[in-house]
Amino acid sequence: MVKLPSRMFDPRLRFIKLCGCDYFKDEFKNSKDSIAPIELDYRHNNYNALQMKTWLKRNSNNNYGVITGSQFNNLIVIDFDSKELQDELYELLPETFVVTSAGKRLKHCYYFTDKPLEKKIPVKSLKGRLAVDKRGKPRILYDTIADIQSNGTYVAGGNCDRHGKIYEVCNDKPIANISLDYVRGVFSKWTNAVKKRNNKKMKGSLTFVRQKKNTEVKWFDCWDILKLTRFSFQKTYMNNDFIWGACPICGISKSNKKNFCISKNGKFFNCERSGVKGTPTKLLMHLENIDFSSAINKIKEWRVNESNV
Ligand SMILES: [Zn+2]
Repeated sequence: MVKLPSRMFDPRLRFIKLCGCDYFKDEFKNSKDSIAPIELDYRHNNYNALQMKTWLKRNSNNNYGVITGSQFNNLIVIDFDSKELQDELYELLPETFVVTSAGKRLKHCYYFTDKPLEKKIPVKSLKGRLAVDKRGKPRILYDTIADIQSNGTYVAGGNCDRHGKIYEVCNDKPIANISLDYVRGVFSKWTNAVKKRNNKKMKGSLTFVRQKKNTEVKWFDCWDILKLTRFSFQKTYMNNDFIWGACPICGISKSNKKNFCISKNGKFFNCERSGVKGTPTKLLMHLENIDFSSAINKIKEWRVNESNV
């Protein structure tokens, strides 16, 4: 059974019911996290510590969340998602009630602020990394390295149990007060970088996905990739959406002539013989037997050549 830490009996705090590890598995199978809220409208469905204690006693598989935000006495929780950032900043923060998360064992620092924080502040890494979005387009991603949780969010509380991993109270002090300006100051290096990035026009390695002004971005689809790599495939079947045939690399099996297909719109392919499927970039990787970054470089070259024509 999850026990409320004594610090949670601060009358300024409000709580929500979270499901347990497996108890609500079926209802929450679409949820990424097994400790999702049970009652969704927690602006209205929230409880004080005594009510929560009683409920946790009766529902021994379940967890609880602490609600942050201006409706809840300006509670914020600084939720670190990067050990490096935590090491850099933890000493700058006033001593307070701290819980380590079940997953990465990073700190949740609880504070009451003097002013409301309208919405949570995501703190992004200064260093970007090249990644591919859902549509197979390369993007520079800046990972979230911390969140300052406020309106509309909550955190799993101390002693919560996520698949046997516990949110541990690691500094059992009363929740401290902090000025919002101080919090903003501590994180300004990161939040200002985001502002600058948003103001600045896309430059450098991103330019290759953008064509000149006023023209829509055109990305290579699977059909383009076939042409550019000078592969073709022998077609066997088609319907409204897909064309099937022999994979240029894996060939075709005698028993199943529908084990390689490309969608007519070119956005998707599936090679059942190798088990590789997905975006045009993935197709290029499969055809040329190269890794992701080489594929991106190739696409870059083609993009440059095309714009020179
Ligand atoms: Zn194949």
